[in-house]
Amino acid sequence: MDAHTSALLNENTRRFVAKPKRLLIGGAWVEASEGGTLDVFDPATGQAFAKVPAGGKADIDRAVAAARQAFDGGDWAVMRPVDRERLLMKLADLVEANAQELAELEALDNGKPVTVARFADVALVVDSLRYMAGWATKLGGETMQPSVPIIREREFWGFTRREPVGVVGAIIPWNFPLLMAAWKMGPALASGCTMVLKPAEETPLSALRLAELVQEAGYPAGVFNVVTGLGHVAGAALSSHPHIDKLAFTGSTEIGKLVGKAALDNMTRISLELGGKSPMIVLDDADVDAVAAGAAHGIFFNSGQVCTAGSRLFVHKKKFDQVVEGLSNIAAGMKVGAGLDPDTQLGPLVSAVQQERVMGYIRSGFDEGARAAVGGEAGAGGGYFVKPTVLVDARDDMRVVREEIFGPVVVAMPYDDLDEVARRANDTPYGLAASIWSNDLTRVHRLIPRIKAGTVWVNCHTVLDNSMPFGGFKQSGIGREMGRAVFDQYTELKSVLMAL
Ligand code: ADP
Repeated sequence: MDAHTSALLNENTRRFVAKPKRLLIGGAWVEASEGGTLDVFDPATGQAFAKVPAGGKADIDRAVAAARQAFDGGDWAVMRPVDRERLLMKLADLVEANAQELAELEALDNGKPVTVARFADVALVVDSLRYMAGWATKLGGETMQPSVPIIREREFWGFTRREPVGVVGAIIPWNFPLLMAAWKMGPALASGCTMVLKPAEETPLSALRLAELVQEAGYPAGVFNVVTGLGHVAGAALSSHPHIDKLAFTGSTEIGKLVGKAALDNMTRISLELGGKSPMIVLDDADVDAVAAGAAHGIFFNSGQVCTAGSRLFVHKKKFDQVVEGLSNIAAGMKVGAGLDPDTQLGPLVSAVQQERVMGYIRSGFDEGARAAVGGEAGAGGGYFVKPTVLVDARDDMRVVREEIFGPVVVAMPYDDLDEVARRANDTPYGLAASIWSNDLTRVHRLIPRIKAGTVWVNCHTVLDNSMPFGGFKQSGIGREMGRAVFDQYTELKSVLMAL
């Protein structure tokens, strides 16, 4: 790591980055079986600054066995819900106490602005763990009064139990490394499951630091295991493992289908949170300044590397030029820079591959006839920068309109009427989210049911809350995270029918 970067880090972060990294399996820190390592790159400079173990199939086998043993017997299996709640609360406190270090790790590893990492990512992790902790004591079943039709002479009563699904394999992406880990571990540990976490190879550090905090909180050995490694090696071994009971995956639709099929071979339960091409729909009464600011957040937050990114902006033709101008002015004024620089508003993309992918999409837009109102080029320096970009003169059949770009690139398009915009907004294989910008309640309410998406925001975009179930329609996924709904994915429902 260069001296400039190192000087921006707090002492604890520097210490953690410098020390050798291990896998956490069965409560012990261990090397990868085959001894290999993976380089971790700083997206702001393109330089490798740390190494993590390259976990393989044998490591996944060991981790799943440890999680299985912790689930089937020992302290965890007999722990009362209230004690699981307290442990999760304790973990949340530890995350909060180490917020600056965790935020710096996210900024270093993913490239995101450190202030965003601190006050969005890490703050949301703390919130999420506390929210899920509360459910540990509140999960239960129902009682029924059966009228068994063919056995009239007996009396019956019935009830349902919610039981933890078992060993959870969690595979997470690089855009919100710590938060995606929390979204899986909160419900898993609250409901009494055990788990094996495989972080993304681009951003493995915060998961390893989180694992240290899990140890410090006092979780029994094997409840939470972390195996770093490549997707097609460690990830594939985990998703196809016959001894996991549930696979929780967040990532691309392409890999989601692959892991979903692998899991189904073992009838492993799956939840898949996948890609999106979310529309932001601006009605003709909307306030131009509010829309420009909101749309800038909708697309440029986390450099557009957000599954709910508002990457298609439909603006009523009356307001189109004004909204594009307002949004372009905001984009032009954004400070693009290293995540650790406290003034940075837009960090680099996570990797050279991602930068090339996004630039490839921008070029394809130009080739097909689109034009950049602002941006449209890579940023200067050795990092993986792409300038915030607003494309116009687009057609619905262009790749930039149809495919998920996962970068700071929005395509703005005018429309004439609500029927047209509803049809075009839904003309995508994805269905993760959408936003509607208007204060005309009647038209907003008429539009909401017509939008095929798991979340519809009104006058805001990418605002998440623990109480709100989150997940996709169509090819954006299967299942819901957050809210009470997430426990449908982490528990099995057992029906008990008793003859009296
Ligand atoms: P992204 O496009 O965001 O990189 P991916 O879907 O490629 O998303 O990656 C999300 C997660 O899936 C990462 O942890 C990655 O290592 C993992 N992964 C990638 N390929 C596979 C695979 N073949 N099997 C299982 N996991 C995989």
